[in-house]
Amino acid sequence: MKILLNGSKGRMGQAVAAAAADMQATISAAIDAGDDAATHLGACDVIIDFSSHHATGKLLELAVTRRKPIVIGTTGHAADEKARLLALAAQVPCVWAGNFSVGVNLLFALTRRATAVLGADYDTEVIEMHHRFKKDAPSGTAARLLEIILEERKLTANALKHGRSGITGERQPSEVGVHALRGGDVVGDHTVLFAALGERLELTHKASDRGIFARGAVRAAKWVVSQKPGVYDMQDVLGLK
Ligand code: NAD
Repeated sequence: MKILLNGSKGRMGQAVAAAAADMQATISAAIDAGDDAATHLGACDVIIDFSSHHATGKLLELAVTRRKPIVIGTTGHAADEKARLLALAAQVPCVWAGNFSVGVNLLFALTRRATAVLGADYDTEVIEMHHRFKKDAPSGTAARLLEIILEERKLTANALKHGRSGITGERQPSEVGVHALRGGDVVGDHTVLFAALGERLELTHKASDRGIFARGAVRAAKWVVSQKPGVYDMQDVLGLK
């Protein structure tokens, strides 16, 4: 499998190049800011993007025009920008994941389950910490954790509304706090904290090597080349759905 790697000079770009070498994949073009992706597209089977959110739109347009599968790991897109890009991405096979690690994808599933059980009675906070160079805050992973909590609470709220839970009356989910810490060389820590009067549950994932994201992205690239057009996430790649 031949990969066009965008953002190749960055921390993740270098980690993806190393992972590809270990996973029988070839980097057919390693490009970065200022390079023209269009001239390298013909030689690749799939694109992997770990650059800047400014770059995603143009790269996706090229992927759609040239019908190339794409794996997007870049984070930091504004909500309206992301909605527009997702519509574009659906025209080709695309894996879009704010986090490619297996452990974090399990954290997503555990957070969904804990939220379903504990509901809005437990104060819920998302806390993340990353290295001092990370440009976006909160992280894409923290944003996804928040989405999952709110999705699950909406389900709970709907269930309450229709009386399926056996509890009468409507309750509004309380606010969920998201806290982004920056410092040192932290690769990526995420905690979801559920606190009530008398007990506290914390679900924590700590990444210590960005190779986990890189290997996940290469695994996603190998998977996506044989998929139909559409936007997939890492849960699809790992068969967790
Ligand atoms: P980095 O700053 O080390 O590297 C980014 C690279 O992209 C740089 O070499 C930069 O020159 C290049 N770049 C900037 N604009 C570009 C453009 N327009 N076209 C092509 N290249 C461009 O950052 P990083 O730590 O490697 O992270 C890159 C992205 O990946 C960030 O958005 C980060 O949040 C995200 N990330 C995602 C995951 C995941 O699992 N999805 C994991 C880690 C990081």
